[in-house]
Amino acid sequence: MKKILALILAVLMVVSLAACGTTTTTDADATEKAQLVMGTNAAFPPYEFYDEDGQTIIGIDAEIAKAVADKLDMELTIKDMEFDSLLTAVQSGAVDIVFAGLTVTDERKESVDFSVTYATGIQVIIVKDGSDIASVDDLAGKTIGVQAGTTGDIYCTDEFGQDNVKQFGNGALAVAALQNDQVDCVVIDNEPAKSFVAANDGLKILETEYAVEDYAAAISKDNADLTEKVNAAMEELKADGTIDAILAKYIKAE
Ligand code: GLN
Repeated sequence: MKKILALILAVLMVVSLAACGTTTTTDADATEKAQLVMGTNAAFPPYEFYDEDGQTIIGIDAEIAKAVADKLDMELTIKDMEFDSLLTAVQSGAVDIVFAGLTVTDERKESVDFSVTYATGIQVIIVKDGSDIASVDDLAGKTIGVQAGTTGDIYCTDEFGQDNVKQFGNGALAVAALQNDQVDCVVIDNEPAKSFVAANDGLKILETEYAVEDYAAAISKDNADLTEKVNAAMEELKADGTIDAILAKYIKAE
């Protein structure tokens, strides 16, 4: 009987582990510590992406979250999920915090609380070399590629209509569609834009900025205590230069 019970437990453990998807624990020796489960979409370099071994999520957000967790004496775990499920995940408690190059917006503030801000994002336009799109004014009537659920998606859909916007699961897929002429341009945050353009020949980022935004972490409205602690930690990490150093490590001055 005991054996069967042990077997059932083992199976349950495997099943529940598998249900978590890609999970990276960054603090192996910290089993007794309280968990800080972070949700992100690890296709957004340099904020979150997989390192060369394809196993570990690295980047600005991963490092800031780790520094916050260390300050709070918590163990950080990172869960990779679709960008457009992140806010639901934090609302339902599936994750404690979202760090995802996430833009603070009034609409999102209705469903989650935001931490203090830690970086600036700019929505930019990627086109093929030789494109007739030279600025935001030329976007009307074009097919715009975006990452589903992002502010780029929301603004472009509002301004140019659903028919002119094609949504993709991540920025790399939107950029691939640009290469294949399925879209005329991609609207996305400037730092991932730079890394996608660097990785693909024949693309450029237009000088014009479509929108300037602030990034912050999102926490459930039911978890004011965590928001307060995270904010205190982030203020310290801002004041002592840790956050600046992390940003400078991944974003080289032009
Ligand atoms: N900053 C954008 C947003 O919050 C995109 C973030 C992302 O794709 N990870 O919508």
